[in-house]
Amino acid sequence: NEQKTERLLEGLNPQQRAAVTHTGRPLLIVAGAGSGKTAVLTRRIAYLLDARGVRPGEILAITFTNKAAAEMRERVAGLVGPRAAGMWVSTFHSSCVRILRTQASLLAGMNSNFSIYDADDSRRLLGMIIRDFDIDAKKYSPRLLSTAISNLKNELIDPLQAAADAETEDAELPRIVAKVYDEYQRRLRAANAFDFDDLIGETVSLLQRHPQVAEYYRRRFRHVLVDEYQDTNHAQYTLVRELVGHHRGGVWGDEPDNGPDDRVPPSELCVVGDADQSIYAFRGATIRNIEEFERDFPDAETILLEQNYRSTQHILTAANAVIARNEGRREKKLWTDAGEGDLIVGYVADNEHDEASFVAKEIDRLVDQGEANYADVAVFYRTNNNSRALEEIFIRMGLPYKVVGGVRFYERKEVRDIVAYLRVLENPDDAVSLRRILNTPRRGIGDRAEACVAVHAEQRNIGFAQALRDASEGKVALLNIRSQRAITGFLELLDEVRAAGAQADMDFPDVGSVVEAVLDRTGYRAELEASDDPQDGARLDNLNELVSVAREFSSEARNNVEAAREEGLVPEQAEGEPEPGSLAAFLERVSLVADADQIPEEGSGVVTMMTLHTAKGLEFPVVFVTGWEDGQFPHMRALGDPTELQEERRLAYVGITRARKRLYLSRAVVRSGWGQPVSNPESRFLQEIPGHLMDWRRLEPTPSQSRGLRRRGEDDGLERDWTRGDGWSEQRPGLRDRGERRPAPAAAKRNNTTLVLAVGDRVTDDKYGLGRVIAAEGFGDLATVTIDFGTAGKIRLIPKFSRTLTK
Ligand code: ATP
Ligand code: MG
Repeated sequence: NEQKTERLLEGLNPQQRAAVTHTGRPLLIVAGAGSGKTAVLTRRIAYLLDARGVRPGEILAITFTNKAAAEMRERVAGLVGPRAAGMWVSTFHSSCVRILRTQASLLAGMNSNFSIYDADDSRRLLGMIIRDFDIDAKKYSPRLLSTAISNLKNELIDPLQAAADAETEDAELPRIVAKVYDEYQRRLRAANAFDFDDLIGETVSLLQRHPQVAEYYRRRFRHVLVDEYQDTNHAQYTLVRELVGHHRGGVWGDEPDNGPDDRVPPSELCVVGDADQSIYAFRGATIRNIEEFERDFPDAETILLEQNYRSTQHILTAANAVIARNEGRREKKLWTDAGEGDLIVGYVADNEHDEASFVAKEIDRLVDQGEANYADVAVFYRTNNNSRALEEIFIRMGLPYKVVGGVRFYERKEVRDIVAYLRVLENPDDAVSLRRILNTPRRGIGDRAEACVAVHAEQRNIGFAQALRDASEGKVALLNIRSQRAITGFLELLDEVRAAGAQADMDFPDVGSVVEAVLDRTGYRAELEASDDPQDGARLDNLNELVSVAREFSSEARNNVEAAREEGLVPEQAEGEPEPGSLAAFLERVSLVADADQIPEEGSGVVTMMTLHTAKGLEFPVVFVTGWEDGQFPHMRALGDPTELQEERRLAYVGITRARKRLYLSRAVVRSGWGQPVSNPESRFLQEIPGHLMDWRRLEPTPSQSRGLRRRGEDDGLERDWTRGDGWSEQRPGLRDRGERRPAPAAAKRNNTTLVLAVGDRVTDDKYGLGRVIAAEGFGDLATVTIDFGTAGKIRLIPKFSRTLTK
């Protein structure tokens, strides 16, 4: 047995060992990127199972993505064998769904077949409420309200509390939010639906309202482990506390005394994270949770890991130099014995196409010379829209790649339509889905008819589904007979599809056949087939894809079940999990799929492209991080906001530390954003990297790009090349500030080649209206200004390229 234990600890450094074998008190492992936090968590689980005799069912491990969960489960299985199957390794959301489905009988008005609403569903529902409440949608858009409500939920503030809080404020927004929030929750419940944030919040509230349920889970999960703890929000933090039962502020090992929920001693908690990698504040994550872990759990122990096993020293030094500029952080010393490694390659591109072409050619070269495979390479950018230029050139050069994220398959309209049918089959009360498909494809149920039914539902305080049934029985006021018949037809259609689905599901679930039944019986497929719009052809392809995805989903589950049977195991349906391969299981997968879940497998043979946010936790031998421009990265929004700037700097740290051996950093002098080419100065983060770590492949734009560039204030009409000696150094910070004092020339004409703007200038744009210049950078033809257009937003543009701007 000792031998076995030794094997589990093999290769770990002393701190890692201590973390794996630690017993008892809450444990916090804080460490920089690549120091083996995730590896330790995985190893600790294996150790619990093998050396400490913990049963798999007693383990709950939380990861940031489904994909990370699958990987962790696989690795543990690799260490301890198939026993690992009984553990819960999943995201916060998936774990909560399982708990909520199991405990649905305790949730007033909810069934275990509840729908999970994503951002788009939420906004639809909010749109309906805005309309019904006669709220000014221009002032209070669904997006704005959805963010506000989400923030409240992340803080575990319920509608009642929100209303009370709003009372104390003068502003109108909190009152509107509170009112809408209340109605929104009411309608979610009526639709037997939870939104994403509810999954966490409702689980917390369930555990708090029902001590015996909390006790049940505490008994069950004797070990709770959380990866990426720096990106948990308040609701998730509270959930963890409820699950481990540590909320009396007591010391671990104390005899529990007061109340039934204290009969079980606290579970062992182990969280790992890195405050420097907290990058999800915009989703409500709070760095506070990791920074104040020791205050939240007063008897906690902390272990620091300092050796990095991922990257070369040059890469680490660069990452450390950037993150060191953030204030109020714990200083960390990361070191590696991997050696200095290659210099970091830098490249200044003329524009985003030139940048993309540099990236593509460099990858081509690495692969050609046998220095890397495509799958070793990842390309990161700040925002999703940056992938376009890269994709164009990759396609042209025939490089295999996969973009992770962006417009996802399940977000396409036609796919959402069919999924809405599936959801209604599973959860007939799902009002948002019902209203989505009510007249899709068209069947003569117009907006007016829909409104009549909605009003009826409101007046009777019944769900939309019941109101539809009333409508078909002629009980809805003002509904004409044609609409009534159409509604009856619609309800019959749903019954028919449901029956067809049930037929197909006889032996073993087959979601593929259910999707087929929907496509055929609703006429959705026929309508697309009859169309000569080429777009509809693409839509048909997507739907066929959906059929095969669904079919594969069921048959995979079936194979698993059969394989288990052959081994003599009786596959037991896990608690809170829908039947394998069933429609319910499929819908759950669709709802909880996230960007990061599409990351290609190792050995896939493709280059991976994704945003920096999605790259968290991953590593690649070769990494390109593009777009190092002030205004891109750091994002424009962060330029004037120190808190946001710190978050952007953490993002830079995350990006740099994904690289194992080779790192490329590039920027473009001109980039098209919002359809307007913009010239951005070099990213301040790039300037923070010590020069001796960099190997600049190109430091200046090509002559064609610089032609026409003029030094600010010079009016001699001569063209100057932008050379390192003068023009280049002028791009450095400091000069940007001087832009404000630039004298504005007397006459600005419609011909913008000579439109020179300074801070404070008032301008008019045909598209955006009146605005004021709030920042000016660069000079000559490539001068860039940021203009505040009030409600139209702040826009950054190059006056030279704008035809609509006048002074
Ligand atoms: P991040 O902060 O980016 O999430 P992390 O701290 O979770 O990073 P891991 O991904 O667990 O780090 O580990 C980074 C790399 O180092 C992995 O390839 C892992 O296999 C390797 N590694 C970790 N510990 C050791 C060790 N003791 N010996 C050898 N390799 C190790
Ligand atoms: Mg990790």
